[in-house]
Amino acid sequence: MAMMTGEQYVESIRKMKIKIFLFGEQVSSAADHPILRPSLNSVKATYDLAKKPEYEDLMTVKSHLNGARINRFGHIHHSTDDLVKKVKMQRLCGQKTASCFQRCVGMDAFNALFSTTFECDEKHGTHYHKNFLAFLKEAQEKDWTVDGAMTDPKGDRGLAPSRQADPDLYLRVVERRKDGIVVRGAKAHQTGICNSHQVIVMPTIAMGPEDKDYAVSFAVPLDVENLFMIIGRQSCDTRKLEGSSMDVGNCEFGGVEALTIFDNVFVPNERIFLNGETDYSGMLVERFAGYHRQSYGGCKVGVGDVLIGAAALAADYNGAGKASHVKDKLIEMTHLNETLYSSGIACSSEGAKTKSGNYLIDLLLANVCKQNVTRFPYEITRLAEDIAGGLMVTAPSEKDLRHPTLGKYVEKYLRGVAAVSTETRLRILRLIENLTLGTAAVGYRTESMHGAGSPQAQRIMIARQGNLEQKKQLARDIAKIK
Ligand code: SF4
Ligand code: FE
Repeated sequence: MAMMTGEQYVESIRKMKIKIFLFGEQVSSAADHPILRPSLNSVKATYDLAKKPEYEDLMTVKSHLNGARINRFGHIHHSTDDLVKKVKMQRLCGQKTASCFQRCVGMDAFNALFSTTFECDEKHGTHYHKNFLAFLKEAQEKDWTVDGAMTDPKGDRGLAPSRQADPDLYLRVVERRKDGIVVRGAKAHQTGICNSHQVIVMPTIAMGPEDKDYAVSFAVPLDVENLFMIIGRQSCDTRKLEGSSMDVGNCEFGGVEALTIFDNVFVPNERIFLNGETDYSGMLVERFAGYHRQSYGGCKVGVGDVLIGAAALAADYNGAGKASHVKDKLIEMTHLNETLYSSGIACSSEGAKTKSGNYLIDLLLANVCKQNVTRFPYEITRLAEDIAGGLMVTAPSEKDLRHPTLGKYVEKYLRGVAAVSTETRLRILRLIENLTLGTAAVGYRTESMHGAGSPQAQRIMIARQGNLEQKKQLARDIAKIK
């Protein structure tokens, strides 16, 4: 099958029987609910953009499996050029959606599993790489969106998976059968899972031998029996039910997260990619996290581009665009945003070949990239709010603007420069609100902090990869210390 169009993708999700709960009620499909549809549209954009000739080089690539042209989100990176193009593609998608477009987790899981299953098989004589390749081939041919599920609820952070008071707080194998395994547990904060065809489950931490049942990786379709998801709340989410395109700030795109529950889900043998080899759990986590930390040097930068543009327009619309302090703030925002991009590109350019033949980013630089992302978007957001002014959070609704008697007062008193309508001014302020405080803030502000691992997770990796001993030796050499 060739790459799907955006519409074909939407239809394919609509046809699935994914069990989604929102506000305590079951939803028929993410395609047909006003709170969920913008999130589906963001994934749809990854299909639509791939069909545009001007983005062909970034959005599509030849499959290394059969030479067919595929969406880059399904690709195994085979060069540093592939890694760089991945980041550029993500910046583009961030610019076009101003939200999380969700499909990267699958791509990052593909690449982490490709090399980890290869190395695990080499040591243990298992057959996970073959299983994974068969899955990947189907994913590429069917142009699937695949969720990558790593984060377990984790319960008491001071205890290993098998020592938790409730043994299901990390997803685990509860039954081993001839034809497969049965798993139980949950994955939290799953971005885009309600818009995906399949989910790849991975362990969330490095594990010891006592955690054998927890060192498990596999893929299942999202409408598999006994799997369901509970959608998380977002600030201003019910505004999407009001039917005002202006008040939501970004009416077309968004992202949602779900607590996904595996309540005794059966996984056939051929879809298992790790099952008890605890010594490869850490490698899988480290590689997936590394790829996803690289990803943030693309997607968050693209969203940052939109936020910087929105702040600049807000200043133009109230006549402050030429003020030197505003110009300086926009320069600072750009500087921070491009610094994020620089580390995304750097960890890609410094990537290296793994034993399996695919390319892994430079892990130190990828962790530095994400560590910057836990900080700079906060400053970019602060500056955007500074430029936008208080009206961003005090402006009346679209209903007031359209009101037969109140409308003219809103129009008159909330206008900035005479040449720009009040509606235009309010639309850009609502977009800034959406990105900094509203539904998209989950995907920009807070996700910058916690997505792809919280700050401390990167600091551990930076400590491990930083090679302090070599640096000490450099200092000894210069200081002539024997
Ligand atoms: Fe992709 Fe960024 Fe969303 Fe992660 S946070 S899935 S990298 S858009
Ligand atoms: Fe994320």
